[in-house]
Amino acid sequence: MEILKAQRAGFCMGVDLALCKLNALIQQAEQRNTIFILGSIIHNPQVVREYAAKGVITVNSPDEIPAGSTVVIRAHGIAREIRETLEQRGIRIVDATCPKVTAACMQIKKHTANGRALLLYGEATHPEVQCLLSYAAGEALVFDSCQGCEQLNLDPAKQYCLAAQTTQDKDILQSIIDCLQQRKELDVTILHTICDATRQRQEEAILLADKVDFVIVAGGYESSNTRRLVQVVRAHGTEALHIESAAELPLDKLRHYARIGLTAGASTPKEIVNEIERVLTSLQEHNC
Ligand code: SF4
Repeated sequence: MEILKAQRAGFCMGVDLALCKLNALIQQAEQRNTIFILGSIIHNPQVVREYAAKGVITVNSPDEIPAGSTVVIRAHGIAREIRETLEQRGIRIVDATCPKVTAACMQIKKHTANGRALLLYGEATHPEVQCLLSYAAGEALVFDSCQGCEQLNLDPAKQYCLAAQTTQDKDILQSIIDCLQQRKELDVTILHTICDATRQRQEEAILLADKVDFVIVAGGYESSNTRRLVQVVRAHGTEALHIESAAELPLDKLRHYARIGLTAGASTPKEIVNEIERVLTSLQEHNC
């Protein structure tokens, strides 16, 4: 059995930056129980548990944060209105929004300011999508597939701009663009908001899918970019399994494959990837 690991398996720049900011804050804080995070800092349960053990409090609503506390805005960003509410309540904000998400927000703000409606390819309930939508000046339509876009009742009398959640599938986005561009009556400006980290990880996953019989994708079940890697591998006809930890590896099944690929989402700590690799390697040694 051979094991091939993607070079970019694990943390991206945005996640690294967010955790660096949180770590620096924890080191400086006199009382850790005054540090709050609105929603999980990243979509990885092991990382969230680690920070909870250090005294950092994760809440789901801004109402749960007392005045005088510090709140860390996670890598996915936060809706504008919620940020304003926090500021009005005198809560100190440490902004750990990924610069790529901020850049996407600024593009949306700029291009919708003159009346263009936003077409957003993303998961409607995802926190990043909520953040992106809050920067659209007017009408905004969200869809999560090419079919979803085709079903929109678009008005040729209006102007539109198309953006995507930063972690969406670049190939699906391209088919959405192709589909919109075939409709010559529509005026659509394309904004390129899928981030490089996502694009590179998806490209690597496709290369891996072509070389192996089965791909393990490690990352939180809530992690959008991890789920996307699973979809990308399966779309290329290779079996894939999404797991959060090495304990979930289906060892009996895996020992029958000649080549196994390993990749991970952008919010998966390297310790988890290394542990999965270690277990796969011991399976490989056992098989020899
Ligand atoms: S996946 Fe991209 S957008 Fe998301 S945190 Fe990482 S670098 Fe930022």
